[in-house]
Amino acid sequence: MTTVMELALECPRCGGAFVTNAVMSCGNAGQDTDFRPHYWGTNPLPHFLHRCPLCRFVGSQEDFELHEGSTEGLPVDEAGPGAGRYADAAGLAEREGESLKTVADLYLRAGWCARVAGDEEAEQRNMGRAAAAFSRALEIGEVRQSDAAVITYLVAELHRRCGRFGDATAWFEQAASVPADEERAHWLPALLERQRRLAEEEDDGDAEIPDQDQ
Ligand SMILES: [Zn+2]
Repeated sequence: MTTVMELALECPRCGGAFVTNAVMSCGNAGQDTDFRPHYWGTNPLPHFLHRCPLCRFVGSQEDFELHEGSTEGLPVDEAGPGAGRYADAAGLAEREGESLKTVADLYLRAGWCARVAGDEEAEQRNMGRAAAAFSRALEIGEVRQSDAAVITYLVAELHRRCGRFGDATAWFEQAASVPADEERAHWLPALLERQRRLAEEEDDGDAEIPDQDQ
């Protein structure tokens, strides 16, 4: 189950202090076909990032200092569904020249949060941005060889989920030609083939990874 605890942080940008929640524990079983974990209880993802209510700076806990002393009267960081803060963190990472893989991972999480919240428009927008950033990361050789097959699959699956079936099919075909690492070779080819067929059938539906595939 997801549990959170309250803590007070100081913003590196404006120096202001605020109260927020941080994840104490969480667990999951199973995942969607774009690897969104199925967490037990509430979605913990919004609480892995914190947003300064004073200047809107977004970061993970390491980006802030712990605030010592009283928390009385401090503004509160309300996490909400989380898609907005992940998209903002992705935009910030992009502007600060962090790796495209980092940017893509943040947009992917923005899409996952939007899915949990039932916001299809934000889900598609962020999945599309994640697909674009992952594909650029692959192009410029930023993805490790051992991860190339699974990331190529993920780009295909994100295109399928966005209803871009031509792109999806082309990426699934490309993914099938990239050898998976030893652990993923046990389940990735079957998953890839199943999702490739869905793209061919122009099915953009949500789906889980079957147990036998992982
Ligand atoms: Zn601030």
